[in-house]
Amino acid sequence: AVPAISNAHRLAPGSSVIQVPQRLLMGPGPANADPRILAAQSLPLLGHMHPPFLKIMDEISEGLRYTLQTDSKYTLMVSGTGHAGMEAAIANLLEPGEKIIGIWGTRVADLAARYGGDVIELKADAGRSFSLEELTTALETHKPALLFLCQGESSTGVHQSLAGLGDVCKRTGTLLLVDTVCSLGGVPFFFDKWGVDCMYSGSQKCLSAPPGGAPFALSERALEKLKGRKTKPATFNLDMNLIGDYWGWFNSRSYHHTGMVSMCYALREALSIVQEEGLDNMWSRHLEMHEMLWHGLKKLGLEPFVERDADRQDPTPARTPLTRAGAGVTFCSRAPGAGVDWAAVVKNAMDKYYLEIAGGLGPTAGKVWRIGLMGYNARPQNVELVIDAFRDGLQKQGKL
Ligand code: PMP
Repeated sequence: AVPAISNAHRLAPGSSVIQVPQRLLMGPGPANADPRILAAQSLPLLGHMHPPFLKIMDEISEGLRYTLQTDSKYTLMVSGTGHAGMEAAIANLLEPGEKIIGIWGTRVADLAARYGGDVIELKADAGRSFSLEELTTALETHKPALLFLCQGESSTGVHQSLAGLGDVCKRTGTLLLVDTVCSLGGVPFFFDKWGVDCMYSGSQKCLSAPPGGAPFALSERALEKLKGRKTKPATFNLDMNLIGDYWGWFNSRSYHHTGMVSMCYALREALSIVQEEGLDNMWSRHLEMHEMLWHGLKKLGLEPFVERDADRQDPTPARTPLTRAGAGVTFCSRAPGAGVDWAAVVKNAMDKYYLEIAGGLGPTAGKVWRIGLMGYNARPQNVELVIDAFRDGLQKQGKL
């Protein structure tokens, strides 16, 4: 006989329909998704090998080429969040015993060690980026297989300039791997011109889609490395030989896993929106919102955590002299004077304004607030609300 069904874990009566409160997500991510993208996500499912779906996958690859400014054939969306992109990069481009040097916190170092890499961590004070000279010295000293950099650091708001590195990496036989989870769409990025070999990103920040898809790209040089490996990547799920095959990189299509059909619709729509607005306009909009925010916060006595202008600006030669602050997406503020209860400001913003801002993370824990101005959310009315919420939160503590 079949055992009796237990009712111990049924949802409480009256809660069978999901309830989701409205929140304005102005922390380090996710940002609110564009309603147009949410609508695309609810379109009818297709089979993951149906020709109309394969066409949508191709459109994603093409849309990524525009967004990343690359002619590389090797672009796709990894099924998973930014971490899946990160793991895919490490697992495929690093062979056991090879050297990787990098900066982003401990995550990549941990991942690289799990895949047998010889990890050399470059340490800088929180709130500072690395100069081309410093990175050149590190590359020439270690001649690593991989250099890992994070373009927009979401725990500190530091922007890492990438210009000029590609050439040095080529000289030292190093592949240049860049995390753009927080920055893609918010600040200039030129995959080909900057000689990037591998890039991964996330869908939930400046691209205004829900979390779940990781834009991913390889250069020709990175593909050669993948194809020339002595060992198979130690992951089946994220083996880019197999995933690339599913995405049509090698002129055939084989099943590897069930593609995230609805997530692909979302990213496909997100990339159309990027194209409609145009990268120039997107970057300028993020910059304007950044300036508006800082103008407001400075009046309240707050200061940027990242002190050196050079670490908040992108001096790379975009067409216009775009300066870019705080990685373009996450802006950190020092607490104004001792004795401010930062958590009370965060709580007041949520309780009264249904607004998410965040505290620090890792090296910035307890020291800063983190405010994201990303994608769909990077618009004046949201910036005004953030400033109002800070004013109110500080006034309540008698700090204004
Ligand atoms: N890199 C950076 C710079 C990030 O900000 C994040 C997420 N906050 C990640 C990687 C990881 O992405 P995910 O949470 O989507 O896995």
